[in-house]
Amino acid sequence: PGNQKDEGQAATVPTKLPKGVVLGPDGKPCRSCTDVASWFAMAKKEASSSSSTSSRPALLAVPPSDCPPDVAELGRSSWTLLHSITATYPTKPTPQLQAETKSFLSTFATLYPCWHCGSDFQRWMKEDGNAPRVSSRDEFGRWMCEAHNAVNVKLGKKEFDCDRWGERWRTGWKD
Ligand code: FAD
Repeated sequence: PGNQKDEGQAATVPTKLPKGVVLGPDGKPCRSCTDVASWFAMAKKEASSSSSTSSRPALLAVPPSDCPPDVAELGRSSWTLLHSITATYPTKPTPQLQAETKSFLSTFATLYPCWHCGSDFQRWMKEDGNAPRVSSRDEFGRWMCEAHNAVNVKLGKKEFDCDRWGERWRTGWKD
C-alpha cells in the first residue's frame, strides 16, 4: 500500500495498471505483492486489449486453487508458519537459539516474496521497542502477535488480543 511503483515498467506491462497491482523490483507486476482480484483485473484488461484473433483461452472467473499465491494467501501461510514457530519455541531457549532466531527473522524479512511487506516488516523491527523479544516462548509469541497486529493496523484490520495468542496457535480455544 502506497508502494506501487509507476515507473520503470517493462515493455510487456500495460501502461495503466489497475489499482492494487504492485510492481516488483524488476518493474514487472509482482504476483506475491498483489491481491488476486487486482491481478485478475489486470489479466482481463490485457486480454481485452489484445487482438480478437488471439488464441488464448478465456479467463476463468475464479482462479484455480493451484495458482501461485497472491499477497493474502502468502500472508496467511506465512503467519501460520511464524506463529507455529513461536508455539513450539522452547520455554528456556539457549543464547545460541535466541541469536539464531533473531537472525532468522531478519533473513525472513529480506527474502519475503512480497518485497514491500518484507521491507516494512524489517523497518518495523528496527523501530524503538519493536526489536524481536525471544528469551522465552511466551515473550516470542506475544512479540509475533504484536508484529502481526502492526500489519493488521496498516491494512485497516481489527487487532488480535495478544493475551490469547497461545490459545490460537498452541493449545486451542479454552471456550
Ligand atoms: P491473516 O492476517 O493472514 O491472519 C491469519 C490468522 O491469524 C487469522 O485468521 C487470525 O486467526 C490470526 N491472527 C490475526 N492477527 C493475529 C495476531 N496479531 N496474532 C496472532 N494471530 C493473529 N499484506 C498486505 O496486503 N500488505 C502488507 O504490507 C503485508 N505485510 C505483511 C508482512 C508480513 C511479515 C506477513 C507475514 C504478511 C503480510 N501481509 C501483507 C499479509 C497480511 O498480513 C495477511 O496475511 C493477508 O492480508 C491475509 O489476511 P487474513 O485476514 O486472511 O488473515
